[in-house]
Amino acid sequence: MTEPTSIGHGGRLTIDLASLRANWRHLAEVADCPETAAVIKADAYGCGIAKAAPALWREGCRTFFVAHLSEALTAREAVPDAAIYVLNGFPPGSAPAYRSADLRPVLGSSDEIAEWAAANRNEGVIRPAAFHVDTGMNRLGLSVPEALSLAGDPVVAEAGIDLLMSHLVNAEVEGDPLTGRQVADFAKLRAAYPNLRASLANSSGDFLPACRTDLARPGYALYGGNPRPGHDNPMRPVVRLDAGILQVRAVEAGATAGYNARWTAPGPRRLATLSLGYADGFPRSSTGRGEALVGGVRCPFVGTVSMDLIILDVTAVPEHALYRGAPATLIGDRLDLDTVGRNAGTIGYEILTGLGRRYERVYRD
Ligand SMILES: *Cc1c(COP(=O)(O)O)cnc(C)c1O
Repeated sequence: MTEPTSIGHGGRLTIDLASLRANWRHLAEVADCPETAAVIKADAYGCGIAKAAPALWREGCRTFFVAHLSEALTAREAVPDAAIYVLNGFPPGSAPAYRSADLRPVLGSSDEIAEWAAANRNEGVIRPAAFHVDTGMNRLGLSVPEALSLAGDPVVAEAGIDLLMSHLVNAEVEGDPLTGRQVADFAKLRAAYPNLRASLANSSGDFLPACRTDLARPGYALYGGNPRPGHDNPMRPVVRLDAGILQVRAVEAGATAGYNARWTAPGPRRLATLSLGYADGFPRSSTGRGEALVGGVRCPFVGTVSMDLIILDVTAVPEHALYRGAPATLIGDRLDLDTVGRNAGTIGYEILTGLGRRYERVYRD
């Protein structure tokens, strides 16, 4: 951070749309599918659909996936001419809302397929939809036998189904036998539906040649998350979180810090306080293991992460980097999303999608 964080916010979230676009381009090359889509559910993984979707569209992305109808409506405004699929099924009676915004439901049961086919008949227009087959998640979609037995049924065409999809359980774990089983089941499905486009791979699956299909479906890696845990991250960072130091203080050995006095200074220490906390989506579970960079030095969180404040041990930081308003980095540089997730006992996905609404947001392109 070169400029101090703006007055009025606890931190500055910088979202680099040029890196987002470069990541999409890179994933499209790696996935090596005829088309690469972008998953922009959860407000583009916290990065903002309104900015992220048009940036991806400019780069050439033409197909988008969201989870909910409400997200799809936001996406429709952002990318008026895109194909937009809604992953989380198709609630009863929602066909008019999908149709009026030209949205495509991802149908996950024979009831959903029948209802969409009926809507197509009523309107006299066959509008496209996808169908989701559950090859191992046991969460959403028709079972493999159900889907196979539906092949050749006229309802598939009546429902305008143009995309066959499934979702990988464990794509980030190399050589996982479950992935092999899912790939084999998916191959059977593709053989049963030779006229449908097929889509299987998420971000991690894009790096597995066996998961190559007609349409790649990355999410997390677009936003800078590492799709290959245990390997160097091939993606560019998109999100950066910086905060200005509110106060620096010196404490004696035996002093405690934060609620419930859960940290005791083992010797004389310098502490710095930052103006953000769990209400900003910085998990309370980072207590005792989170860290921030001050003057390039990794500084551990001390005491309990509170709602609006975090305390750092900055004893190792050179004096000249410690002043009122001095920058601290919470996400960025060596603290990538996956490290921040690990430091909170969770995954980078949850950090990204939980990023708070109180930060100053700056978009760069
Ligand atoms: C979220 C999601 C994706 C994207 O997954 P990433 O791991 O974020 O790349 C793809 N497909 C489906 C069905 C999803 O729910």
